[in-house]
Amino acid sequence: MADSVLGVRLLTDGLDLASRNDHKIKEFRRMLEPLGIEVRPAPHDFEAEETAPDFRGNAFIKAQALHRLTGRPALADDSGLVVDALGGEPGVLSARYGGAGLSDADRTALVLDKMRNVPDERRTARFVCVLALVGAAPDALYFEGVAEGLLARSVRGQNRFGYDPIFIDPASNQTFAELSAGEKDQRSHRSRALQSLLAAL
Ligand code: IMP
Repeated sequence: MADSVLGVRLLTDGLDLASRNDHKIKEFRRMLEPLGIEVRPAPHDFEAEETAPDFRGNAFIKAQALHRLTGRPALADDSGLVVDALGGEPGVLSARYGGAGLSDADRTALVLDKMRNVPDERRTARFVCVLALVGAAPDALYFEGVAEGLLARSVRGQNRFGYDPIFIDPASNQTFAELSAGEKDQRSHRSRALQSLLAAL
């Protein structure tokens, strides 16, 4: 259902994004600013504890926390890598997989290690992104995007964000870290979720 009033508000007021993750902020800016939609990251001290068991619940927690802080509509992205052979891990724990203190490189190494004996046909995985928009309508609005792929056997590519270097896009046989920014934006879970948000508004 298109809501033109919300859509116009988004265009004129821009969006408060409940994130301090530079990679996510960059991707949202890349996709929204060409449409004239300003993206405002959360304040430096913004924190919301992600205690929900799923992407949707955590997206809601973050968007609601920022909405309460600013009084304006807030958008949150909760996302992660779901690997079938690992029973869905790292999943909602993607940012914290393996414990605090690990780097993105450590986490990708951990996933590769757990997957080392898994044959090609069982290396299916997907990136999932759930967006929650809170404060724009009486109830929270949710939009989901999924990118299907395969787990690589080693890291590949220079555009390093999270698990991008070990996630193979089957259409190009390249990892998300080997794709250009524009190519990633055509296929990513985040862009798919955002497209459904834009279509709905
Ligand atoms: P969140 O802040 O709890 O949503 O954590 C998301 C985590 O999932 C990130 O820190 C990354 O580890 C991973 N992730 C989500 N989206 C992407 C992506 O587009 N590329 C690579 N890793 C991603």
